[in-house]
Amino acid sequence: MKDLPPLRDVIARHGLSASKALGQNFLLDEQLLDRIARVPGSLEGARVYEVGPGPGGLTRALLRAGADVVAVERDRRCLVPLAELGEASGGRLRVIEGDALEVDEPSEVGPAHIAANLPYNVGTALLVRWLGGEAWPPWWRSLTLMFQLEVAERIVAAPGTSAYGRLAVLAQWRSAARLAMKVHRSAFVPPPKVMSAVVHIEPRPAPEGVSARTLEALTAAAFGQRRKMLRQSLKPLPGALDALADVGIDSARRAETLSVAEFVAVARRMGEAA
Ligand code: SAM
Repeated sequence: MKDLPPLRDVIARHGLSASKALGQNFLLDEQLLDRIARVPGSLEGARVYEVGPGPGGLTRALLRAGADVVAVERDRRCLVPLAELGEASGGRLRVIEGDALEVDEPSEVGPAHIAANLPYNVGTALLVRWLGGEAWPPWWRSLTLMFQLEVAERIVAAPGTSAYGRLAVLAQWRSAARLAMKVHRSAFVPPPKVMSAVVHIEPRPAPEGVSARTLEALTAAAFGQRRKMLRQSLKPLPGALDALADVGIDSARRAETLSVAEFVAVARRMGEAA
């Protein structure tokens, strides 16, 4: 890539004062951004779908790592600097203007890694979309996503912990999820109130005979009343208590004591019995 101006200059020149409404906290430290771009492994010649590039710090790191990037950004102010970056990259960056929750994802371009540093609500909504649904394997090869630390901990949580819940089961029943690195709040401009972390998720073969929808209904009921015994929390869900008994799980247990594999076994049995 040609010499690029420092990100601070790009921000000043294009008047990219961070917008609270758009959840903007920018990363400017190149070394940190390069470390994030290394989380998915080698990106040489790989495709990356980046959500929310902003002034383009992570985008630059992804391009430096050798990726071809398609990026979707809803803040129009960022489009000119991103177009300049696209030019400097020799055409390895394509920018889509729009809301990532509404645009068509570039799944047609073939397997792509996804990378994003997004506001909490948008990031979680997209995560749930990317991990959900019956179709598996998904179109993406991996997810490298920045979250506030507390959300990252919920994604990778183990049973028996207070962080363990629906998000952990969703992220782990047919994917491997790990906390790749913590990021101090002072790394962002402006700094958010809380600490952040990068989570990395890779799809795995889905367990056979389990419907994502049934598993989701099961965990929603179980964790909806997480302090209650399963015999209470699962009562409203047709077939759940029978399935629990069939797979030999004590209905006096609470949701947070069940492993991901146990949730999967109950959901599979519910599907068989339906
Ligand atoms: N990736 C940049 C970085 O690391 O410095 C910017 C991060 S900033 C936390 C989040 C970015 O996502 C902002 O540029 C914001 O405009 C963008 N954004 C927020 N909501 C979005 C949405 N629904 N669709 C696309 N981009 C969005």
